[in-house]
Amino acid sequence: MKRCCHCKQTLPLSEFNQDRSNKDGKDARCRQCVRMVKAEFYKRHRRKIIDAVCAHQKQHPEKARERNRRSYRKHREKRLACGRAYAGLHPELKRKQRKAAMLKRPEHYKLRSLNYRKNNLPKFAEWAQQRRARIRGLTIEPVDRMEIYRRDGGVCHICKKHVPLNQMSLDHLVPIAKGGPHCPRNVALAHRVCNSRRSTGVIPAQLRLA
Ligand SMILES: [Zn+2]
Ligand SMILES: [Zn+2]
Repeated sequence: MKRCCHCKQTLPLSEFNQDRSNKDGKDARCRQCVRMVKAEFYKRHRRKIIDAVCAHQKQHPEKARERNRRSYRKHREKRLACGRAYAGLHPELKRKQRKAAMLKRPEHYKLRSLNYRKNNLPKFAEWAQQRRARIRGLTIEPVDRMEIYRRDGGVCHICKKHVPLNQMSLDHLVPIAKGGPHCPRNVALAHRVCNSRRSTGVIPAQLRLA
């Protein structure tokens, strides 16, 4: 046990920081007090401390970058959460930053967006069809592509053959171009190939018997 010279409490030795310059190898003040004094000091000299740190970083940019990188790796989740919170408060700033980043590395971002599209094809296909219907002011109901796939038994409504998932598309029985709604009742499972052949008028539309 040891008595803290600051708060005058007697505390176990584990409550004191190491300090080799002291006789017993422990700080004269307990951890709690050290923390408080430091916080107090920071609060009082905040501007000065920040300026000094900035000046030091400007003098040693390499060191600063390395330190920042290390800290980022260590507190990645926290940093990301902080960034997200800040972006939420300043959406226009975030947009500007993203634009600048895209201008700096256009190839990187193009590739990323292509990859994202490739990995989320069903989602994008559904969006695209919804958009086409919306532009024409047509009725839109949510269409779950997998639900349609199951409903139609995985069979193409045009050629009546099995449709592998990676070749699936949804065909509008009454085409959107002719005012057909985007809704489960007006779509049927079709091969992508069959669908595009039909839309060129080679195969006539087959209406679903509701
Ligand atoms: Zn104390
Ligand atoms: Zn087919």
